[in-house]
Amino acid sequence: MMKKEIERIGVFTSGGDAPGMNAAIRAVVRTGLYHGKEIHGIRRGYYGMIEGDIEKMGPRSVSNIIQRGGTILKTARSQAFFTREGRQKAYRSVTTHAIDGLVAIGGDGTFRGAVEFFEEFGVPVVGVPATIDNDLYGTDFTIGFDTAVDTALQSVDKIRDTAQSHDRIFLIEVMGRQAGFIGLAVGVSGGAEHILIPETKSDLDAICEEVQSWALKQKGSRIIIVSEGDELGGAAEIGKKIAERTGIDYRVCVLGHTQRGGAPTARDRILASLLGSAAVEALLDGEANVMVGEVNSKVVRTPLRDTWEKKKAIDKRLLQLCEILSR
Ligand code: ATP
Repeated sequence: MMKKEIERIGVFTSGGDAPGMNAAIRAVVRTGLYHGKEIHGIRRGYYGMIEGDIEKMGPRSVSNIIQRGGTILKTARSQAFFTREGRQKAYRSVTTHAIDGLVAIGGDGTFRGAVEFFEEFGVPVVGVPATIDNDLYGTDFTIGFDTAVDTALQSVDKIRDTAQSHDRIFLIEVMGRQAGFIGLAVGVSGGAEHILIPETKSDLDAICEEVQSWALKQKGSRIIIVSEGDELGGAAEIGKKIAERTGIDYRVCVLGHTQRGGAPTARDRILASLLGSAAVEALLDGEANVMVGEVNSKVVRTPLRDTWEKKKAIDKRLLQLCEILSR
């Protein structure tokens, strides 16, 4: 069967915002225009799709945004899109604007919604991986991850100064409810003594033992990086447990939403430019229901469903490396 040629592409950002989303929007708009297509921006993700908050974009709509965090199209979470009725309304908006292909910039929730929408209404969707968590299969890195790690690292470096001065334990909580990619990267690059992430079982006994032996060895700064989703709890809870067992004083710093903001790093801007452009090209090639990603420096297309059903593994060697190098 001959696939219908795409003439009008709708682009939206959805779920948690990530630095580099703007660079991806810019790439989608300008690549689409380069190929002679019309591009329409859908504001506030699926919420705006349902409400029909859609506007035509030109090359100047995306001027001066490559360096900005957040997303000019805004983002939202939409309960209504979980329902058939909500998706039906969204389909009406899409057809009213004669949009015949979609680029969805977001994380796994966004892609789950996209698959449902495609299966029900047949509107081709291509996903662009943008989430600070880096927890999508089918790409080595997601847009926003590198910036989030860099932002967290700047805080860790500052905390290290005060930790060193006072000989104190600092537990620093980073984002990652289900995934420890940020925790692992920040821990290794920040020279942490311990990294606690959801993918591995954290051993409180071993940590307490080490903390006590460090105290004897007069080791200066002690940095423990905790992913918010670690099974032992958040940084505050774990700090309390360590203090109860060892009697050693500690401080907690939760980095929170600072990790989502700020200008994207060069790496995130390049990845966003590459993948935003590749998403349009995938749509024009007649692809649907795939995510574009970068694996081993090559752009690849992965079925959307695989991006959350298959698990991207963390690099456990880094955990071991952290133990060896922080002694
Ligand atoms: P992040 O990983 O940064 O949180 P995300 O894309 O995973 O980003 P979610 O909040 O999980 O963010 O999902 C964004 C939106 O996608 C939801 O608010 C909802 O509207 C839609 N969505 C998620 N899962 C489904 C689903 N199973 N069916 C229909 N829509 C869904």
